This record gives sequence, structure tokens and C-alpha cells, in this order.
Amino acid sequence: MMFTSSCAGCNQPGVVLCHRCRFALASAKAQVSDGGVLSPLPFEGVARRVVHGLKYRNRRQVAKVLATLIARRLKLGRVDVVTWAPTSGSRARARGYDQAELLARAVAHELGVPCRRLLYRCHGQQQTGHTRAERLQGPQFRARPVSQRLRVLLVDDVVTTGATMAAARDALLGAGIGEVLCVAAASTPAHAGQPVKPAQRRTVAMASAGSSPTTTPRMPTASAAATLEGTSSRKAVRSGWAPSLARAS
Ligand SMILES: [Zn+2]
Repeated sequence: MMFTSSCAGCNQPGVVLCHRCRFALASAKAQVSDGGVLSPLPFEGVARRVVHGLKYRNRRQVAKVLATLIARRLKLGRVDVVTWAPTSGSRARARGYDQAELLARAVAHELGVPCRRLLYRCHGQQQTGHTRAERLQGPQFRARPVSQRLRVLLVDDVVTTGATMAAARDALLGAGIGEVLCVAAASTPAHAGQPVKPAQRRTVAMASAGSSPTTTPRMPTASAAATLEGTSSRKAVRSGWAPSLARAS
């Protein structure tokens, strides 16, 4: 039998993610970074190779796998719209895609909510290749102004210093977004706190502009999404994550 693909975790010829790597991801401990970003995976070992596969080796199929982990292993609560911290234009052009956007769209599909571009990167900055001090300052983003308070899920592929997420979150809050929940597929263990405890999950990663999660007015997802663009919110196709991996191959 000829395999045209190989495992993104161990490079073994075959499906997009082999049994062993799938198990390694499924049993990894969810993380909460110092900056309050939730992620289902520590950025090490198999998870690191899989995320790098998405980012540098054109392994786009793993976006669905990582999105499933984000949607199912983190307690996200209500989400009105999903967006992403865009990578620099030159990077995205070189790769042919923006891995953060790919991931955000897969997460939105999994949750059955719309995904919208709300952020733009200023000056085409990129984080990779800079020193840690430079990366701590983070890139600059500008956000589309929105008229309605929304609970936005901000998605990125990986969090190392947290500067990119913080800058993106601040831009969203500055543009009038009600609340921003930050998630990444993986975060660097050195900068991560403890594994997420269930009670922490709802509160720790929530940033809001002047309101607590309990007082944020709820609004129907459909009407909230309609304020951004004429939108069709697709129902998530709920399938077991192991079968969905097999199909993704
Ligand atoms: Zn593998």
C-alpha cells in the first residue's frame, strides 16, 4: 500500500496523525499561560511537532485536529464570534495560508459559530526570528470597530511570550469588543502556569472591557454575528474525534 502522507507528529508514513501521536495529544495536560491564554496542549514533544507541521510544513489537515482539541478540551462558554491573530502578510504569502486563520475557522466550525476577520497587523511585523525582548513587546494590531458588545474567541496557533495575544486582545477591547477569550493550540510550558483546573477555566483567560463575565449581557449568537457581516452560522458537525482524524487522512 502506498502512502502519500505521513504522521505530522512522528513522520511515520500513513495517516495525518498516527495512533500513538493521537494518544499523546489526547492525554496531554491543558495549559493556562501567564497571560491567561488557554491551550489544550503544552508546546513540546508531539504537540510541538504537530503545530510546527501546521505552521511550517504545510500540514493543513492538522488544523482540524487541533481545533477539535480546543473546542472540546477547554471550557469556552458562550462564544459569539471567532477571530484570529493574523500572521504577517509576507509570512502568510510565503506559506500560502495563515495558519492562525485556518485554525480559527476550524474552531468556529467545530463550535457552530461564525468566524470573522476582526484584526489587521500593522507594518507586516512577525514574531518569529526576533529576540525574546523584541517578541515581548509584541506586534501591533488594529481592530475593526464593532457596534455591539460581543464575546470573541481569539485564536492563535501557539503562545510563547504571549505578546502577540496580548496585543491582539487589547486591540479588540479598544475597538469596543465586550469580552475576549484567548486560546491557542499550544503554549510554551516554561511560560505556562499549572495545568488548567476546571474552576479556573471560566475566569482566568477572560478579559473584558469593564464588566465581569457574570454581568456581561447575553445576546443571541445569531443577532450578534449579524452585526459583523451578513453571516450564515453553520451548525457544527459533531463527530467523534478519533473517526474525524481517520477521515482527515
Ligand atoms: Zn505519529
